[in-house]
Amino acid sequence: MLPAPVMQIAQEEFLNYRNSGMSVMEMSHRGGYFQEILDRSLINIRKLLNIPDSYEVIFCSGGATAQFTSIPMNLLDENETAAYSLTGVWSNKAYQEAKRFYPNVVSIFDGKLSNFSEIPELTDLSIPKNSKYAYITSNNTIYGTRYSRFPKLSIPLIADMTSDILSRELDVSSFGVIFAGAQKNIGPSGLSICIIRKDLLHERKSAIPVILDWRVTAKAGSLYNTPPTYSIYMAGLVFEWLLEMGGLSSIEKINEKKASLVYNALDESEFYRTFVPQANRSIMNVVFHLKDSNLDSKFVEESEKYGLIGLKGYRDVGGMRASIYNAMPLEGVERLVSFLKDFEKRWA
Ligand code: PMP
Repeated sequence: MLPAPVMQIAQEEFLNYRNSGMSVMEMSHRGGYFQEILDRSLINIRKLLNIPDSYEVIFCSGGATAQFTSIPMNLLDENETAAYSLTGVWSNKAYQEAKRFYPNVVSIFDGKLSNFSEIPELTDLSIPKNSKYAYITSNNTIYGTRYSRFPKLSIPLIADMTSDILSRELDVSSFGVIFAGAQKNIGPSGLSICIIRKDLLHERKSAIPVILDWRVTAKAGSLYNTPPTYSIYMAGLVFEWLLEMGGLSSIEKINEKKASLVYNALDESEFYRTFVPQANRSIMNVVFHLKDSNLDSKFVEESEKYGLIGLKGYRDVGGMRASIYNAMPLEGVERLVSFLKDFEKRWA
């Protein structure tokens, strides 16, 4: 979901953006109107995350996949190594992709051994000495787990925050690079945001594709080529919405409340279960199962009729997944809880 007030502003401004006579979609990315939209978006994400001046923020295209492909290219030379913590589908994909081009990268944790319910406590001791960075996925969209606390390491920590960026307070200075695809908590898909500690933007020995090179994008102020302009505009509106709500401490409280309503309903019930240990539970994606999986399709069918869309779990995991990103209102979660109880009453 995107926040309804944001969609309303976008609708009002759709045909004629602030008397420009154009839609944002029709503007030159080099013109004054768009430059102002871009500048404002960057200022506001800096405000929201309290990003220190020692970090660069860039908007990129190609989604989160383009970013996790870019990570080793921007940070490693051919024979160097980095450490990947494999806690779910997306960290595995990032690792596999890194390994294709940089065969010395290593896995330091394999969640497969716990059916992806575990999150490791990483320390310098978990990481091979010559690693240039450690890579984590902060929230595992598909398995519904997260790092509730982040490791403190002496090498740069790189985090894919696609599915929980802007959902909780964050100390950016603990990370080397944070990146996120926009499509969960920021705006339309295809845009990604990358927050990079400036000392990591150093010269490299080997050439990399220009479109994946952070240095090029940073130097051009995110305008090396035509960026996803409309997505950046929408992201800017979402940042303003979050600031008006009181920023990340406010949304975090709301998110905690929403998630605990669902987890409490699941924990109280004998009919549903969740395999995610309390300490690792995502507040964005609540993954659960019906004890009797024969009822799964009935559950999905009835939930859709009740206006609850997209509860069917990821194909390899089965069960259900309630994605309750920032824009999901409390009423949406209350509706889910009342459906859970009602379905149980009728089918238990
Ligand atoms: N990382 C995470 C944590 C994700 O949830 C996703 C997509 N849901 C991706 C990466 C991939 O994003 P994209 O489709 O934008 O490449």
